[in-house]
Amino acid sequence: MSSNSKGRVIIVGSGLGGLVCGYILAKNGYRVTVLEKHYQIGGCLQTFTRNGVKFDTGMHYIGSLEKGQILYTFFKYLDLLDNIKVVPLDRDGFDVFRIGNNTYRYAYGPEHFIDTMAAQFPNNREDIALYVRRIREIAEASFTHSLRHISEDSTINREALSTSYNDFIASCTDNPHLQAVLAANSFLYAGVWDKTPAYVMVHLNNFYIQSAYRILGGSDIIASCLARSIESMGGEVLTRAEVTEFVCDQKQMTHVELSDGRVLEADYFVSDVHPSITLSKIKSPLIRKVYRARITDMENTLSVFTLYIVFKKNSVKYNNYNFYFFDDEECIRSNRCDLETFPSSYLYIHQLSDEQNEYAESAEVITYMKYSDVSKWENSTVGRRRADYEAFKKECAEKMINKLDMQFPGIKDCIAYYYTSSPLTYRDYTATANGSLYGIAKDKGNPIQSRVSQRTKIPNFYFTGQNINLHGMLGVIVSAISTASEFVSIEKILSDIQNV
Ligand SMILES: Cc1cc2nc3c(=O)[nH]c(=O)nc-3n(C[C@H](O)[C@H](O)[C@H](O)COP(=O)(O)OP(=O)(O)OC[C@H]3O[C@@H](n4cnc5c(N)ncnc54)[C@H](O)[C@@H]3O)c2cc1C
Repeated sequence: MSSNSKGRVIIVGSGLGGLVCGYILAKNGYRVTVLEKHYQIGGCLQTFTRNGVKFDTGMHYIGSLEKGQILYTFFKYLDLLDNIKVVPLDRDGFDVFRIGNNTYRYAYGPEHFIDTMAAQFPNNREDIALYVRRIREIAEASFTHSLRHISEDSTINREALSTSYNDFIASCTDNPHLQAVLAANSFLYAGVWDKTPAYVMVHLNNFYIQSAYRILGGSDIIASCLARSIESMGGEVLTRAEVTEFVCDQKQMTHVELSDGRVLEADYFVSDVHPSITLSKIKSPLIRKVYRARITDMENTLSVFTLYIVFKKNSVKYNNYNFYFFDDEECIRSNRCDLETFPSSYLYIHQLSDEQNEYAESAEVITYMKYSDVSKWENSTVGRRRADYEAFKKECAEKMINKLDMQFPGIKDCIAYYYTSSPLTYRDYTATANGSLYGIAKDKGNPIQSRVSQRTKIPNFYFTGQNINLHGMLGVIVSAISTASEFVSIEKILSDIQNV
C-alpha cells in the first residue's frame, strides 16, 4: 500500500458508479476498498451464462465513442479504450421503431439523423434540424460535454430540468406523429409523459445520435477492467461482502458491518447502492428525519420483464440495430404495461458474440412490468420461488414470443431455449427498490427535490451512481466524477481527463 495514501475510502457497491469513483480516487492516492454483496462485480454490468451463451443484463448499447466524442474521452481516461472491443451499430438506423404498422429509423451523426428523419417526415425538416440543434446546445452547455467546472449548470440546462421531454419536443414541432417518433426512445430512460425532464432525454439522445455501439463479449468486461485498474493502483475489490450497516459516532461515519460479521473501518465512505436502501442501513441521527423521509418517499422508475433467447445455430440473421415495438402511439405517451395487453411495447436486441456477426446466437426482449404484478412473490429469493411464479413467467414469455413472431414471422421456430427475469430478479441482483430500472424518477415539477446530492449530512459519507445524476453509461460516469470531486478538485480531475 502506498505510504503517501490520502486515507482509506470504502465504496459500497461495485456497479459502474462505485468502480469509476474507485478508479478516480485510487488514481489520486486514496486507498480504495470496493465491497460488493454478490459473487460477481458490476451491478447492471453483470452478465450470466446459460447453455454456453453469455447474456448482458443492464448494458446493451453505448454512444459517443468516436474519437473526440465524450465517451471516447472518458474511456481513454478510465483505461478502457484499449481493453474493450466495440462494434458500431447500423449508422443508417441504429434504433428502429415500429409504431403500429409504421417503421422509423434513428440514424447517427447529427446531419445524417436529420436527413434520415426528414426522409420520413419531408414537411418537417426544419423542425428536426431545430430539435437536433437544441439537444446539442443543451448537452454541450452542461459540464458533461464541455468538461468545464461542475457547478456551471447553465440557464439552458436549468430550463431543461423544469420542462418535460414531451413539451420540449412539442416546442420543436407541431406534428404529433413526429413528436411520438422523437419521444419513442423514452423507453430507454423510462420516461413518463408530462413528468420526466427534457434534460434526461436530451443527454441520452445526444449521446446516441453522435454514434452508437455494442460491446463485444459482454458488459462485464468493463467492470473487470475497472476492478483490475483499481487493484493495480493498490486498491481492492471484494465480492461476497454485503454491508448490513453503516455505523457512525456523534460526528461521522466510522465503519461498516458485513453480513458475515466483518467490521471494516475507513476515513471516508461512498455508497453506490440506491439511496433509500442505503439509508435503511444507517441508524445514526446525523441523518435527519426529514431528509430520510424525502429520500425514502421518492418515486422510482418502472421495472421490466426480460426474455433471454438462445437461437438454434445459424437460424436468425444478426440485426445490427435495436428494434423497438409499440402497439400504437398512445403506448409511447402512457407507458402502457397492463397484464391484460401484455406486452404493448418491447425492445428487441440481438447480442453480439463475435465479430463474424452474420447470425445471431442470442437475443433479449425487454418490456415494462410493474412491481405490483409480482409483489405477491416478494418474500422469495432467486432459485427459491413458487411454482405459480414460474407459471406466470412462462405465460408472459409465451405472450412475448407470439408478439415478436408477428413482427419477425417464423422466429418462434428458431428458438432453442429461453430464460426470463422479472422485477424481482432485478430487485435481488442489483438491490434497486422494487427492481426499478434506473432508480429514482426525475420530475420536472420538482427538479431539485427529485435529485439526490452526492453530499449528505454525514461529513465523510457520500452517494454515487445513477441516482445522483442520470442513469446509463454517460450519466453514471458523470455521477462518479461528481462524487470524486468531493475528494479531489474538479479542475484536477477534468484536466487529467482532457490530457490523458
Ligand atoms: C435492463 C437494463 C438495461 C439497460 N441498458 C442500458 C444500455 O443499453 N446503455 C446504458 O448506457 N445504460 C443502460 N442501463 C443503465 C445502466 O446499466 C445503469 O444506469 C448503471 O449501470 C447503474 O450503475 P450504478 O453503479 O448506479 O448501480 P448498480 O449497477 O445498480 O450497482 C449497485 C451495486 O451495489 C451492490 N449492492 C447493493 N447493496 C449492497 C450491499 N448492501 N453491500 C454491498 N453491495 C451492495 C449491487 O449488488 C450492485 O452491484 C440499463 C439498465 C437496465 C436495468
